[in-house]
Parts: sequence; C-alpha cells; structure tokens
Amino acid sequence: MNEIKFEQRKTIEQVEESTELAPKFDQDGLIPVVTTDFNSGEVLMQGYMNEEAFKKTISFGEAVYYSRSRKTLWHKGKTSGLVQKIKEIRIDDDQDSVWLRVDVHGGASCHVGYRSCFYRSVPLGESGSSVVLRFEEKEKVFDPKKVYGDAPNPTKL
Ligand SMILES: [Zn+2]
Repeated sequence: MNEIKFEQRKTIEQVEESTELAPKFDQDGLIPVVTTDFNSGEVLMQGYMNEEAFKKTISFGEAVYYSRSRKTLWHKGKTSGLVQKIKEIRIDDDQDSVWLRVDVHGGASCHVGYRSCFYRSVPLGESGSSVVLRFEEKEKVFDPKKVYGDAPNPTKL
C-alpha cells in the first residue's frame, strides 16, 4: 500500500481553492479535529491528530487521534469497542482544522460514558456566584468502570 502523501503548502490559492490536501500542523505537530454524529449532527468530541494519526484515519476509515495526555496515537474505540466509522472527512478553508463525520458503534463517544463529550451546558445570564453546570444527557450509555476496568483515566487535572 502506498503511503498517503500530504502536499507542501505553497500558495494561499493552492491551500484554499485547489484539490490538494496540504494540512497545517501546529508547532506541536497537531491539527485540531471536531467530530460530529453523521446522522444527528451532534458534536461528539474535539481532539487532535498528528500527521500519522491523520494518515491512519484516512486509510483505515476509522478515527485515529493523538492523545496529548498519553502522548501516543489513539485508535478511538480499540479498547471500548466504540469505534468511530468515518462517513466523511472535511478540511476547512486554510486547512488547519478537520471535521470528522462519523457513525459510532455502540452510540457513545465519551470515556465518561456519555454519547457526546459535551454532555453539560453552561447556563447564561448568571452573575455573582458559582456557575452551576446543567447535565443535558440524563443517563450514561455505558458504565466506564465495566468497559475500562482499572485503566488510567485520561483526564488530567
Ligand atoms: Zn469525553
């Protein structure tokens, strides 16, 4: 299998108007990724890919991210079975941001057990005291303890 090749970024016209894939990775070698549910359009998560993760995502047809906390490639769902099957990959105008439209096997994308990582909302119009988040998803899709056992939680304080 030939390795996927990204083009050099040469001109603004090439980046914005041509058919060449010339993604821009930041100083840490990463590009931000927004992932939505293909059917509902719901935002499921926001993550990062490095060059290798992006190439693997394209060739596997499954989401592969780069975990900044674990400093390693992260084939989403390998452990939990909640694989994200790619239906479409979009790249934005200046090619420094990626949108994955996916079908999630098992219906959850968040390691906490929810469908979306954005399972809480921040209320508007509060002032003067602590902000109280509102749970928008009432129930977890799965129990993370049963799925991951004692595996370390990737959330960093
Ligand atoms: Zn999450």
